[in-house]
Amino acid sequence: MTAFADRHIGPTPEDQRRMLDAVGYGSVDELMDAAIPEVIRWHGTLDLPPAGTEEQALAELRAIAGRNTVATSMIGLGYHGTHTPPVIRRNVLENPAWYTAYTPYQPEISQGRLEALLNFQTMVADLTGLATANASMLDEGTAAAEAMTLARRAGRSKSNVYLVDADTLPQTLSVIGTRAEPLGIEVRIIDIDNPETALPDAFFGLHLQYPGASGAVRDHAAVIAAAHERGALVTVAADLLALTLLRPPGEAGADIAVGNTQRFGVPMGFGGPHAGYLVVRAGLERMLPGRLVGVSRDADGNPAYRLALQTREQHIRREKATSNICTAQVLLAVIASMYAVYHGPEGLRAIAERTHAKAARLAAGLREGGVALAEQPFFDTVTATVPGRAAGVVAAAAERGVNLRLAGPDTVGVACDETTTDAHLAAVFAAFGVAEPAGDGHDALPPGLARITEFLTHPVFHAHRSETAMLRYLRRLADFDFALDRGMIPLGSCTMKLNATAELEPISWPGFADLHPFAPAGQAAGYRELIGQLEGWLATLTGYDAVSVQPNAGSQGELAGLLAIRAYHRANGAGHRDVCLIPSSAHGTNAASAVMAGMRVVVVACDPEGNVDLADLDRKIEAHRPALAAIMVTYPSTHGVYESGIAALCAKVHDAGGQVYVDGANLNALLGYAKPGRFGADVSHLNLHKTFCIPHGGGGPGVGPVAVRAHLAPYLPGDPLAPRREDGVGSVSAAAHGSAGILPIPWAYLRMMGGEGLTRATAAAVLSANYVAARLRDHYPVLYAGNKGLVAHECILDLRPLTRATGVTVDDVAKRLIDYGFHAPTMSFPVAGTLMVEPTESEDLAELDRFCAAMVAIRAEIDRVGSGEWPKGDNPLANAPHTAQMVTGDEWRHPYPRSVAAYPAGVDRAGKYWPPVRRIDGAYGDRNLVCACPPPEAFEQ
Ligand SMILES: *Cc1c(COP(=O)(O)O)cnc(C)c1O
Repeated sequence: MTAFADRHIGPTPEDQRRMLDAVGYGSVDELMDAAIPEVIRWHGTLDLPPAGTEEQALAELRAIAGRNTVATSMIGLGYHGTHTPPVIRRNVLENPAWYTAYTPYQPEISQGRLEALLNFQTMVADLTGLATANASMLDEGTAAAEAMTLARRAGRSKSNVYLVDADTLPQTLSVIGTRAEPLGIEVRIIDIDNPETALPDAFFGLHLQYPGASGAVRDHAAVIAAAHERGALVTVAADLLALTLLRPPGEAGADIAVGNTQRFGVPMGFGGPHAGYLVVRAGLERMLPGRLVGVSRDADGNPAYRLALQTREQHIRREKATSNICTAQVLLAVIASMYAVYHGPEGLRAIAERTHAKAARLAAGLREGGVALAEQPFFDTVTATVPGRAAGVVAAAAERGVNLRLAGPDTVGVACDETTTDAHLAAVFAAFGVAEPAGDGHDALPPGLARITEFLTHPVFHAHRSETAMLRYLRRLADFDFALDRGMIPLGSCTMKLNATAELEPISWPGFADLHPFAPAGQAAGYRELIGQLEGWLATLTGYDAVSVQPNAGSQGELAGLLAIRAYHRANGAGHRDVCLIPSSAHGTNAASAVMAGMRVVVVACDPEGNVDLADLDRKIEAHRPALAAIMVTYPSTHGVYESGIAALCAKVHDAGGQVYVDGANLNALLGYAKPGRFGADVSHLNLHKTFCIPHGGGGPGVGPVAVRAHLAPYLPGDPLAPRREDGVGSVSAAAHGSAGILPIPWAYLRMMGGEGLTRATAAAVLSANYVAARLRDHYPVLYAGNKGLVAHECILDLRPLTRATGVTVDDVAKRLIDYGFHAPTMSFPVAGTLMVEPTESEDLAELDRFCAAMVAIRAEIDRVGSGEWPKGDNPLANAPHTAQMVTGDEWRHPYPRSVAAYPAGVDRAGKYWPPVRRIDGAYGDRNLVCACPPPEAFEQ
């Protein structure tokens, strides 16, 4: 039987021999010995269990899932039971056309997910009554933290005080606290119910929860107005389902709303992933963090979607960034938006009414049974006062298979959702020791806060009510997009490798999908085992001592790692150390994270070979020695090179009292050959959505574990529900284990590869990159190389000389690759005017050759432009990509034939991928910002 590793790794041993010939090495071992500097090399066998088959791994995962207890969770606190419509589960969550797509930076081949994200933005804006929503946040806690910093930038107040309503979700409060502290923001909790509470004179922002954690629905209009009088901005964390029945925050005067869209069809997954949201009133849209989808037009003037204000994707602005979010939660945002498309406004309202009716019946039964409930309007959650009995009631409910919230020694919270049945309520009544109520109770929504405005009026939320229509809509959008299920996505730094079906299957099993993150520990034994093993394996692979999977993206892992460094310095009486050295080639998130961790960024230059300039490093260390907190370097470098200076670099920084952070996004070039925790680094984050097979999802989800040496272990992120330790770091995600629901994916990958398979994969990835470099070197200069002219797992093709000579840009080449049936490599990162190619180990030789042939053919096309044979403004490159509409038009006035436009050398005519739109004019859309669904008339031609 074929081992899984042989299916994961594309090139066969025979292929690899041919590739080695092209690169000029006799064996993979020789190649790796030559490529990897001996100073970092680790010679050993990885101590992982021997590789299991797919069947074994799945059987073990089934047993692990079986050790989780799936109870009915009525805990609430922002996580609720929900029915994922099967048509959405199978055709989005479980469909590689959606989950293997990349972030839509190449909009012409991403129109499907861009439309779905625009639906998401429209849904959030409509429901909250605010103007502009972004295309997802990592969770509600981090969205609330981003809203806090947005309020600080946008508001008039010079105060550093941020007020938080006492009835805020505890995990949100925890994340806000973590993010506030390094920025010098003072968080003050206020009880807005208490008439004695006076707002302080000076504060820059106020965070409210609607409905509150207790379930209370409050009229916030007055407190919002009072905050505005003091120059503060107000954020309302709002439940979207409740907003189908309640006056939205925008109509109460809120400036910003945040929240979680989990209950729109996304399983709880023991904490994630889910799409958080952030939406702002008019006037604040240019300050939004994260990605924003907007409408623009293509070269034919047809409407087309693309990411708007791309320079606002904050991390690109490095230390001037105000947010570090990069990978977000696209797949989950697509699911939530499709839930709204599927149900429509009436359907959502009906779900909300049913949910409220259950809560009303619950309240009636408890009251009739003599249980005291807070006298307050509620939507889905009631808080009962049972003096001295709360723990007993919660235990009694658990015995009946229902989780309730132990809200205090005397209080129990019970939340209803769309999955709540009368049988669940009967179990709750029994747990409280009360009889079932005679009637159904009555509406407990505050009449003055009833929603009167319409929402989701756009036709897309009305047109797909039958399952047939829904199925076809999902298929139509998926067909617009180019994902890994069509062809190679050779994006440097992104590691778009195989996301094996066996790795993905378990995430929708109820034993993983249906656990509430705050379920009693006894119910999550399987998850604890899975997470413990995974963290242990990741520590083994990286040479670190401790790992936390809490950060839900690489950017959050960076922040967690830097916060650990900061806390460590403070604990050692060196709290003044606040300078973070970052090489000029670094990923933008590095600098953005450093600023968020309260550090000052000092840039270190690179030498002409692309390595960190050690002389400049010496100068910067000298200039900042007493204040030096850390250096943040990527290894292998973002230039795709194994730098041999890394050991010296680590030593220099350590000698000066600093800590070494190695950005682990490029770990795919190291596994089995080097361990950052052994070659001098103190902390790294890993990207489980790159190296460890979590699919990219069109721009998320991700998991960015933080891995540390022992001295930093006490400063790993804390549990958001536990009190923060005096010298601890607090939580960086809303749930203790972040996006736990997708951790079966990397677990399965490691279990099926074993140490040997992983090591072989690394070598295959390095061989593939060197093969591409060797094949293309004569056609495009390869920008940087290390030992013996070898690259690591990716290579940079320098287009700049060609651009200067011919006017053909890196953009033209990227778009022309679409005509050849490829997703472009990474464009202009880390060097403007270049393409960075990362083939990964999973692409077989035929696909690598198809790519190289396309690049060679494109080079010949560039030459025809350069020679003047084709005019600069009218050639297959300038006009790319070509749509079917264009090449089948009745007129054709271009100096090259239609066949060259559509079927350049090597393109399979029968299997051709047709982009739905021509090249998109980004600037037009930025000038005319439209970030919600345009009216259908806009698409009439
Ligand atoms: C992808 C990447 C990051 C950011 O990771 P996200 O999960 O997108 O937040 C950071 N550094 C490098 C080098 C990367 O390639």
